[in-house]
Amino acid sequence: MQCKQIDELMMKYFDGNISELEMEQLTRHHQKCKTCSEEFEVLREALFEIEELPDIEPPAELTVKIMTAVQSQKQFQLNKKQLISWIVGFAGLVLFTYNIIAFAVLPMISGGVNLLSVEGMLQMVSWIGDMLKEGLIALSVAIGKLLVIRDIIFRDYAILIIVWAAAFSAVQLMLFRLMRVEDKKNNYVKN
Ligand SMILES: [Zn+2]
Repeated sequence: MQCKQIDELMMKYFDGNISELEMEQLTRHHQKCKTCSEEFEVLREALFEIEELPDIEPPAELTVKIMTAVQSQKQFQLNKKQLISWIVGFAGLVLFTYNIIAFAVLPMISGGVNLLSVEGMLQMVSWIGDMLKEGLIALSVAIGKLLVIRDIIFRDYAILIIVWAAAFSAVQLMLFRLMRVEDKKNNYVKN
């Protein structure tokens, strides 16, 4: 028998599923092959030493730490509530950005333009503004109610609250801008 085949028999021996015939082959080979028999002895002693080691209990703290880590990972994966809050937060952020562009940036850009030539545009902005104003407020109220129902804890939803505070500020800004547009229109009509 070749040494390579004997290696396989040794593995079987240490796994504890060696047959009588295989055991005979192994013993016979070890009697004439010094390399394999020495290797076998070294492995057997090493395994014996390992088996003799007392069972080491991991510190209780370690187990708790691992369990906590595993559970927090699970929560991160399974927490639909958090996912929804992030989606709602993102929607708030989009509204905020839209408000800033539509009602703060655009009026500033068109501020220097002659009112005569932009009357139609102002009218349109006013209409869009009215629609958005009502839509945004309705949406904010609806989402606000949902959030209250969802029993929000401030710590978990701090980012959401900040985003919505920003969104509401943007709505305020929008209303202020609309009032000024209306004033300009009124002044134009009077003059
Ligand atoms: Zn050998």
